[in-house]
Amino acid sequence: SNELMAGKRGLIMGLANDKSIAWGIAKACADAGAELAFSYQGDALKKRVAPLAESLGSEIVLPCDVGDWDSIDALFEGLREKWDRLDFIVHAIGYSDKSELRGRYVDTSRQNFLSTMDISVYSFTAVTKRAAEMMTEGGSALTLTYYGAERVMPHYNVMGVAKAALEASVRYMAEDLGRDGIRVNAISAGPIKTLAASGIGDFRYIMKWNELNSPMRRNVTTEDVGKSALYLLSDLGSGVTGETHHVDAGYHIVGMKAPDAPDI
Ligand code: NAD
Repeated sequence: SNELMAGKRGLIMGLANDKSIAWGIAKACADAGAELAFSYQGDALKKRVAPLAESLGSEIVLPCDVGDWDSIDALFEGLREKWDRLDFIVHAIGYSDKSELRGRYVDTSRQNFLSTMDISVYSFTAVTKRAAEMMTEGGSALTLTYYGAERVMPHYNVMGVAKAALEASVRYMAEDLGRDGIRVNAISAGPIKTLAASGIGDFRYIMKWNELNSPMRRNVTTEDVGKSALYLLSDLGSGVTGETHHVDAGYHIVGMKAPDAPDI
């Protein structure tokens, strides 16, 4: 339906290319009639993001490196010049030094621990606070997490610790903002081959394992994530907040290797 999101305005953060989870979500929202704005990390990504935004009819494309606090404020100043109200925000941003997305978690450096938490956790709190100030008619905020927050997954290491904190921050912000009609949720996506995922050690093995052992015996796509995001961002999710919703072909319910799964 192109009426579900008619009249709704949303900011999409974390689009890098057409493989990004942010792209699957942006397409689903635009198809449903939403008006979108995009932020991109740096000049190198602008030439990728601007044509994608334009293809969805968006003219608002603003820079924001969430590691730079001034840049977060500048993003919302820029957005306020275009829009007086915001209905939803999508945070599809995560980062850790890839040299620590392999080996042992216990070897994580203090510096990378802090920057991983800053970029991957604090940024969602910082942008949700600013977005909420513009959500004068209620709203919905959504971030992306992974099962490595709940269970130990190979190589995910400090990113798993950060995602656990991100999921907790979803619950705390859901309480803070719920009385204003603002909902805060996370989608825990199964493994998808994106730029960020390519930094994780043995990612192909993780994808294969999920494909062979998830109840649906397949991996999820950015379209799968986009459709569930649409539910949480639209009025269809009107009673849902503080939730970590798994879009992982059911992998998170599995207790052991599937009997029909071949050795890999
Ligand atoms: P992606 O590489 O397409 O997107 C990651 C985005 O983060 C990029 O657009 C990048 O520019 C942005 N980013 C990183 N550091 C930033 C900074 N300092 N300032 C602003 N932006 C910054 O990869 P993706 O897989 O689509 O990642 C989106 C989110 O989904 C991440 O939070 C990731 O952890 C999460 N996720 C991914 C998977 C997967 O398997 N791909 C699974 C579960 C969750």
